Amino acid sequence: MSAKILIVEDDRVTLRLVERLLQSRGYQVVGTPTAEGAIEHLEQAEFDLLILDVGLPGIDGITFCRELRAKWFLPVIMLTARSGSREKVEGLEVGADDYLTKPFESDELLARVRAQLRRARDYGVQPSRPDRIDLGDVVLDFTERDAVVRGRRAGLTRREFEVLAYLARDPGRPMPREQVFESVWGFAEEFNTNSLDVIIHRIRKKIEEDASRPRYLLTVRGFGYRLSDPAADASTA
Ligand code: CA
Repeated sequence: MSAKILIVEDDRVTLRLVERLLQSRGYQVVGTPTAEGAIEHLEQAEFDLLILDVGLPGIDGITFCRELRAKWFLPVIMLTARSGSREKVEGLEVGADDYLTKPFESDELLARVRAQLRRARDYGVQPSRPDRIDLGDVVLDFTERDAVVRGRRAGLTRREFEVLAYLARDPGRPMPREQVFESVWGFAEEFNTNSLDVIIHRIRKKIEEDASRPRYLLTVRGFGYRLSDPAADASTA
């Protein structure tokens, strides 16, 4: 199957050009003028590559790229306005895999796209989320974006699932409360401990046998949370 590419570019002419170019080479292409639009697409389908303009209305490319990294593992090529600019450095710092300065040649863009797709394949960089993470009685199902608890769907909301998905990126590792919050609410939102507490409580009610004595979603006192696999923890203890 051909690779699926998401393009975020608010300049209509550039967007159309890039879309047509990539389509002509057999790629599946989805274009959107805003980061907000891109988030909706990413939540609905899996993509192999993101081409991201830095200067966007609303959430800018730099902020978006940083937030993206908490949730999605796809390679990112950034489009920057000027060479040698601050944008380029910032883009790489927040996790872009490559950048291209506007205006660029078609061949140049195609070469970068091929290189990133090849790299993702060859080095086993996961171009998309895993299908499922198994924690014994609790299984995170990334296709359905829900947890399956002892064979039954937990019925998690989008935010509830995102909290678990964020912690599940590195099971067992404690994550600071602020980072858990940012991964779900984004950087634009001010850290709100009550919102996070409410979500954590709701998740526990849905996945734990006894929400007051959690075995999976554990509090790390004075720091944050970690996701535990009770079976694995017991065998290494
Ligand atoms: Ca722009």
